[in-house]
Amino acid sequence: MNTLPLTLTCLLGCSAALAQLPDHTQVFEPVPALVTGVTHAAAPSDAIVLFDGNNMNAWEQLEDSASPQWDIEDGFVTVNGTGTLRSKQSFGSFQLHIEWRATDVIQGESQLRGNSGIFLHSLYEIQILDSWENPTYVNGQAGSVYLQHSPLVNAAKRPGEWQSYDIIFTAPVYQANGTLQSPAYVTVLHNGVLVQNHVQILGSTFTRAPEYKSRCTPFAHRQEQACAGKMPLLLQDHGQVVSFKNIWLREL
Ligand code: MG
Repeated sequence: MNTLPLTLTCLLGCSAALAQLPDHTQVFEPVPALVTGVTHAAAPSDAIVLFDGNNMNAWEQLEDSASPQWDIEDGFVTVNGTGTLRSKQSFGSFQLHIEWRATDVIQGESQLRGNSGIFLHSLYEIQILDSWENPTYVNGQAGSVYLQHSPLVNAAKRPGEWQSYDIIFTAPVYQANGTLQSPAYVTVLHNGVLVQNHVQILGSTFTRAPEYKSRCTPFAHRQEQACAGKMPLLLQDHGQVVSFKNIWLREL
């Protein structure tokens, strides 16, 4: 049997060298599906589009399940104080892309400047905040898992500029008896920069202490419900002017 190192053997022809590798190193199936239309601005062909700039039909008001009243203009939607929104569809694990922009009209500071947020599974907030020259507690700035994990770096742009989050979320798993089998994990890129690297979510981010419960009361809800399966996303209305566009999700 030829025992030459692979790099040297490649001088004689790589296909012959590769043929010497153990069979189990080469995998031919399943073939990853072809995904087209991949640009920074557009959703991939296999994505669920949650907002394409035209309407908010994929969303409803959290308070009363009515149609969203946020302002749609020029291809983006803006928080206006009419309340937090909930996606009509529920999701397990997913990849989410969302673009957001805090107003350049500076009025508040700290948590009162450009505050919004994306609640994964209606329970775990990835904070949205104008974190450009706006000190606050670091586990509450943009890109944080709210009150649990500070971002690795501050990748914020100036207020008034569009920013992006790309979020990979692994849903928690519960056993049939309601006990937690595995917690949730999340990876977040802020403007293409890694700010959360597969961190373990400790539980709900708005309760007195983080917790996992198979029956729970999600953020801003009034009644307890089953929380062990797929759950909707929430977009937070925190009373500040934040706009969104190009929201899409791929289920994993
Ligand atoms: Mg928030």
